[in-house]
Amino acid sequence: MTDATGKKIEFILILLALMVLVLLSKKLEKYASGEIVKLAEKEKKSQVIVLDAGHGGSDPGKIGVHEEKEKEINLEIALKVEKMLKKKKIKVIMTRTDDQMLDDQSDAGQKVRDLRERVRKINGEKPVFAVSIHQNSYPDAGIHGAQVFYYRHSAESEQAAKTMQEALRAADIGNTRQAKANDTYYLLKRTEVPIIIVECGFLSNPEEAKKLTTPEYQDDVAKAIVNGIVTCMEK
Ligand SMILES: [Zn+2]
Repeated sequence: MTDATGKKIEFILILLALMVLVLLSKKLEKYASGEIVKLAEKEKKSQVIVLDAGHGGSDPGKIGVHEEKEKEINLEIALKVEKMLKKKKIKVIMTRTDDQMLDDQSDAGQKVRDLRERVRKINGEKPVFAVSIHQNSYPDAGIHGAQVFYYRHSAESEQAAKTMQEALRAADIGNTRQAKANDTYYLLKRTEVPIIIVECGFLSNPEEAKKLTTPEYQDDVAKAIVNGIVTCMEK
């Protein structure tokens, strides 16, 4: 073998070694980014959910056909959801845990400041998403069934609402309602994270209003909301 052929072989060998190195590093890069995705998923699962029980204190919310108070039903269901989520090791922050508004100055501006404070709390926690719990009312007493509202301009809010609506329908065979878009509710407009409003039922429907005050039915609704939240978090 001449010197020149030896150099040629040496050159080819170095080239081959370099190619192997490039291929290996590409594979390593892919592996590493895969690990990062997995880590991000893990982090996502440990993130927080904010539960907002609507109204409270001097603001009763809707009043039912038998004088049921929306604020009380909202809080009872929210507390049940909180307990169930904590059992699943999901971190939960509540905007309120007792019968009060989020502003103590009882004047004409109280309701607005209460809503502003809810929004501030939710945005401050930066949750995966927020669930605001309410009860509905309608002039036609026949209307019933839980319904979820989402912010029209948020695809994430829409997806969460559709998942939640499905979970609520599964728990109530008589419910055929669909998730509904909205772009006027203050809470939906001002919250910087995906948020949905769950109207658990109609206090204007005698049967549903009665059911909504029983711990058994509240448990069923809370379980359905938890199912919806868990499914949303897995997506
Ligand atoms: Zn309400």
